[in-house]
Amino acid sequence: MKNRLDKGIVCWGCESTAHTFSCSVLKSDGRILSDVKSIYTPPPGSGIHPREASRHHIEVAPKVVKQSLIQAGLNMKEVDAIAFSAGPGLGPCLRVGATVSRALALYYDKPLVPVNHAIGHIELAIMLTGAKDPVVLLVSGGHTMITAFSLGRWRVFGETLDLTVGQLLDQFGREIGFSSPSGQRIEELAKKSSKYISLPYTVKGNDVSFSGILTTAKKLFKEGKDLDSLCFSIQETAFAMLAEVTERALAFTEKKEVLLAGGVAANKRLQEMLMEVSNRHDAKFFVVPKEYSGDCGAQIAWTGLLAHSANISVDIEKSFVRQSWRLDKVDVKWRD
Ligand code: AMP
Ligand code: MG
Repeated sequence: MKNRLDKGIVCWGCESTAHTFSCSVLKSDGRILSDVKSIYTPPPGSGIHPREASRHHIEVAPKVVKQSLIQAGLNMKEVDAIAFSAGPGLGPCLRVGATVSRALALYYDKPLVPVNHAIGHIELAIMLTGAKDPVVLLVSGGHTMITAFSLGRWRVFGETLDLTVGQLLDQFGREIGFSSPSGQRIEELAKKSSKYISLPYTVKGNDVSFSGILTTAKKLFKEGKDLDSLCFSIQETAFAMLAEVTERALAFTEKKEVLLAGGVAANKRLQEMLMEVSNRHDAKFFVVPKEYSGDCGAQIAWTGLLAHSANISVDIEKSFVRQSWRLDKVDVKWRD
């Protein structure tokens, strides 16, 4: 990508697609001046209730906004653009971030930049790792897709047909009494076993489906199967499916880089499998740093900066949120 960014530009960004309300200030040289977040945690055994999560976001918003500016040592007048995650995500949650951002853009007379949350994950991961033109495996609570950039858009080379891999881990976690998100705790249990219990391995074309794994694992848990072995087997099956479809996309596109992004990228076993795939194709392997792998304002502020550099902004009256905004519908004008 040619760097068209003006050196001194500063962008404030707000993320609120699901459980996380986060605000960040970022400079065009890539320095993250602040990244403040507050995460809604549902009670053990239950998932994110959109209305409850949005109530949490409303409550914490004033503090998080203020703290993001204090930490950055700037006031809103010194910010050049205001970016917000406009989708995809949970409607009530998206609307909190959008309302806060609209109000700030209007009051301070700043351009308002809508950011696709999936592209936010990818752009920040690219900036932080130094990857240039990777095949990306984006795996999080909200996304499971294999994508690569071609002819002005991120093209999808495979995706989940039902649950995301994050939902698979979190929903199984809920079944065993963990509170969401539970991917990390499942990883810890998985490390204690190497006994594979057969689970449905479902790849259709280059898409994946995880609902069979979830249903079977829940049933086996109720029947008293060893929990550590179940966690191990869920990871082995789901991650092998993801490795297979990523490998096919890599062979097809002939790209020379693989980038693992999204909250589930923190998983060491998944990293290991993707590293093997990359090695087989002489591709360089990158993983987003753990600190910025989950949802955060920095993803939105950085992508907002890139979009702002390509003169992208939206009128306040037209700044609707889009719950199912696919990344392959976005014209990425800042990337060559
Ligand atoms: P995000 O939606 O990007 O904020 O990512 C959150 C998702 O990442 C949740 O589904 C978590 O369970 C999952 N996650 C976080 N850490 C890990 C880990 N070490 N292994 C697997 N999944 C993880
Ligand atoms: Mg996310």
